Amino acid sequence: MRVLIRGAGVAGLTAAFELATRGAAVTVAETRHSLGGNASWFAGGMLAPWCERESAEQPVLDLGRDAADWWDTATPGQVTRAGTLVVAAPRDTGELERFASRTSGHRRVDEDEIELLEPDLAGRFRRGLFFPDEAHLDPRQAMAALHDRLAGMGVEFRFGVDARHISRFDRRIDCTGMAAEDDRLRGVRGEMLILRTPDVSLSRPVRLLHPRFPLYVVPRTGHRFMVGATMIESRSTGPVTARSMMELLGAAYALHPAFGEAEIVETGVGIRPAFPDNLPRVEARGNAVAINGLYRHGFLLAPAMARQAAGLVFSQDRTKEPAHETDRQRRSA
Ligand SMILES: Cc1cc2nc3c(=O)[nH]c(=O)nc-3n(C[C@H](O)[C@H](O)[C@H](O)COP(=O)(O)OP(=O)(O)OC[C@H]3O[C@@H](n4cnc5c(N)ncnc54)[C@H](O)[C@@H]3O)c2cc1C
Repeated sequence: MRVLIRGAGVAGLTAAFELATRGAAVTVAETRHSLGGNASWFAGGMLAPWCERESAEQPVLDLGRDAADWWDTATPGQVTRAGTLVVAAPRDTGELERFASRTSGHRRVDEDEIELLEPDLAGRFRRGLFFPDEAHLDPRQAMAALHDRLAGMGVEFRFGVDARHISRFDRRIDCTGMAAEDDRLRGVRGEMLILRTPDVSLSRPVRLLHPRFPLYVVPRTGHRFMVGATMIESRSTGPVTARSMMELLGAAYALHPAFGEAEIVETGVGIRPAFPDNLPRVEARGNAVAINGLYRHGFLLAPAMARQAAGLVFSQDRTKEPAHETDRQRRSA
């Protein structure tokens, strides 16, 4: 079976892996000239289903708890399993209590344990929550690793092409994020920064709770830190605003004052595709399957969505003939 995947974001790449693993001949077509620049590129890469349950529905936890295993299998060496640390300034203790009451899979940590987990945060926070089973990855490195793995499996990549102009495939998987023609989709703008400083070391994502600007810092290699992310109901891709920059930098500085001396090596904006209930969907439409609405859970939920989509494609294949003739049929006609 020949399958065309439209879009090389995290949805498209994970779907390519699931389909190629099941024996489909997969082509991924992407309008951009490389893997970068889409929503997936600007993600934090947190695989944090227990923390996300604070504001998300139960399916996010149910579908996301195996994500780290999936990424470990598909891209060995990309996942760091060090948990998530959640802290709040003493004046925001109420936020910590609220977060604890809305989540599971954590234990309370005091100043001493915070110091054991993150020595650079010693003496800065009296109380926190530790989610030991959570993980993180660098989205850019993970997507590059997945791309290389897919290419090694025989998946064809076509960059710089609009997939709407490609036909002659048995099945199509639409993974075009905000570009999808779907009136139900809305954009949730996420602004982020990458800071670089050799003066701070963190081993895991740290979330800093705040009544107005709950933000997080995710460590990356090379003394770099991803600071994210705003949540603004907008599909504007314009540059990071001054206000958002102040909030993001304020959070980093509140976590550790050494961030005040960090270099700002990148600012970025990604638009999260979201359905009204903020849950993703895999939907069959004729010969096509669409994966969309990954919202703030692309890396967390794309593996489960990809598995569903591949299951749907292969069950369709068993139950009915493809609507379009295949190359082979065309040649033999
Ligand atoms: C700042 C920020 C932080 C985030 N942090 C996290 C996090 O920590 N953990 C997590 O799990 N999720 C996170 N997310 C969410 C995650 O990034 C998104 O849910 C995910 O990237 C959506 O993936 P996608 O593949 O649907 O869309 P995209 O990544 O946008 O990919 C869609 C692709 O389709 C291509 N395309 C569009 N039209 C066509 C066409 N006609 N032909 C060919 N190609 C086409 C586009 O060019 C694009 O490359 C974050 C998002 C943001 C913005």
